[in-house]
Amino acid sequence: MADRTSYLAANWKMHKTTEEAERFLAEFLLRVANSGPEVVICPPFTSLNVTVELCFQSPVRVAAQNMHEAEQGAFTGEVSAPMLLDLGVDGVILGHSERRQHFAETDEALARKVPAALGAGLEPILCVGENEAQRDGDRTEEVLTRQIQADLADVPDARLSEVVIAYEPIWAIGTGRTATPEQAQEAIALIRSLIDARSDTAATAIRILYGGSVKPDNAAELISQPDVDGALVGGASLDPDDFAAIVEAAG
Ligand code: PEP
Repeated sequence: MADRTSYLAANWKMHKTTEEAERFLAEFLLRVANSGPEVVICPPFTSLNVTVELCFQSPVRVAAQNMHEAEQGAFTGEVSAPMLLDLGVDGVILGHSERRQHFAETDEALARKVPAALGAGLEPILCVGENEAQRDGDRTEEVLTRQIQADLADVPDARLSEVVIAYEPIWAIGTGRTATPEQAQEAIALIRSLIDARSDTAATAIRILYGGSVKPDNAAELISQPDVDGALVGGASLDPDDFAAIVEAAG
């Protein structure tokens, strides 16, 4: 791997009350070293506040799972970047496949959300990935190219390296069916080449993660691939021991 600090993000999805978040952090924070991979917890909105408070003065940072691109307005049920910053949140997952699939998140919206997050000072974690039919139909390259080009279209080249990208093949999310290390490497190398077409400096610096059924026993092999800079972890991040083991595997 080039000189890029590994990055491990826990996507809790719609799991954990504030009390459950507190219990997780009481155990997990004891196991996180001050040096090593960057670690980011992404709780649901309702547990952001307690997570920010408990991670204060720890090396662990906090990201939300979605945001609206506008600063404020008549958007019932939405949350803006300034609201997340107000809580002390550091970043935000954007374009997770569950949002694309169940909440009609589009590349057009992401083309607005990613620069809005960056402009506000939040680190975007942009998720991309193909579904099973697209992989079986040999369309992985086409899908990743379209998503990366569209979603990052309005990010200036000079700021591309501030985005974290997560390659998450949809067929591997929550299914227990992990991509092979070779499949993860191939897709992530393709994504890096798409960034390189815009800026070779950004391509060298940008962190690109793998996500999809990462567990303590497969994390090390996936993350040791030359272009894989870490992982976005769903199910296994709900257990403090499992997520700590994944962080240790990346270290
Ligand atoms: C995810 O939700 O981003 C994810 C990768 O989930 P899982 O690890 O459960 O497949």
